[in-house]
Amino acid sequence: MRLIFKNLNVLRSTINAISTSIEIKEIVESAGNNLPNLFDFSSFGVFWKEDLLLFLFQEDSCPPPFTEEVVKNMMSVFSILGEESLERDRITLQIEKRKMRPRQMMMDPQATLKSHLTLPLTVEGEVLGCISLNSDQPNAFDAQDLQFLSVIGYQMAASLKHFQRLSSIKNIAIYDTLTGLYNRRHFEERLGAEAQKSFYGGTPLSLVMMDIDYFKKVNDTFGHTEGDRVLCNISSLLKNSIRKKDTVARYGGEEFILILPETGLEESYMIAERIRRLVEVTPFDVGQAQVHLTISMGISNFPSHRAKSKEELIRMADQALYDAKRGGRNKVCIFSGKSAQWIVPT
Ligand code: GH3
Ligand code: MG
Ligand code: MG
Repeated sequence: MRLIFKNLNVLRSTINAISTSIEIKEIVESAGNNLPNLFDFSSFGVFWKEDLLLFLFQEDSCPPPFTEEVVKNMMSVFSILGEESLERDRITLQIEKRKMRPRQMMMDPQATLKSHLTLPLTVEGEVLGCISLNSDQPNAFDAQDLQFLSVIGYQMAASLKHFQRLSSIKNIAIYDTLTGLYNRRHFEERLGAEAQKSFYGGTPLSLVMMDIDYFKKVNDTFGHTEGDRVLCNISSLLKNSIRKKDTVARYGGEEFILILPETGLEESYMIAERIRRLVEVTPFDVGQAQVHLTISMGISNFPSHRAKSKEELIRMADQALYDAKRGGRNKVCIFSGKSAQWIVPT
């Protein structure tokens, strides 16, 4: 009786630790820290389908062939439970080893998987992954272990589903659903942070506002769906053309914006011009055909243009973009107060 009470207490604190975890790794660690007090096992695994992540918490002396057997077994049970088979080489394996056994009871290097308890992680009928207790001993688990692991699995699945929902809400809040680029709201947030750094730290900061030339024609000729496809392809091209420290966002319909931190006017012009030329020579798929497009760009820079706020920096880039359009399109223009300074591409 006392043992059951002790176990129930450990179970309660395990569940408590899982439900207060704030990321998947922490959930697994919370479970890993508590489970050795509840069960005798060699390896405990959590497979999370969404990230294709298999986290193993293991006895320190677990030999690699045993680990591989556990992975294979978990994947084959998951493919039955989740009705979905996944190739082994797509799975990311993370292993944490702990000394759980005294020296004289270290695992045999030839140890094989003798028993396991593997359960689905299910929420509202959806199989999110599975958990598994594994042992090199035969009949290592009993009915009570099954009950306890079910309760733990239920709490893990609920917490993991909660993270999944939170992360999809976060994605909706910061990404544009069509192109996968950052949306305007997130751009403004990023610009706020970068402007703060520049205005107070004195480092240069450039903005490049871009607008596709005559994009309406693409829609009118090939239809809106093909227009969407072109927007996605231009977005990928932009994403692949910037440095790690830069940010690219979809500012509006067919308008995009770049934040170039620690970048002076000359360097930002070179970056913009490189992108302008790349778009010019890239054929974009539309239906069975391909089209060539061009973009116009406007650059503003801190401190060159003496913007006093991020809003003013945006207005300046927008003004320069307007000048590029007026000047014939397929151009990069730098903000210059009254009238734009023309920079004609060679
Ligand atoms: P300009 O060179 O002056 O920029 O000409 P434009 O035709 O690109 O400019 P305009 O502002 O007249 O038209 C922009 C077009 O972009 C109109 C709109 O249908 C299209 N557009 C905006 N958002 C989307 C979108 O999400 N998908 C598609 N397919 N088209 C879009
Ligand atoms: Mg346009
Ligand atoms: Mg436009």
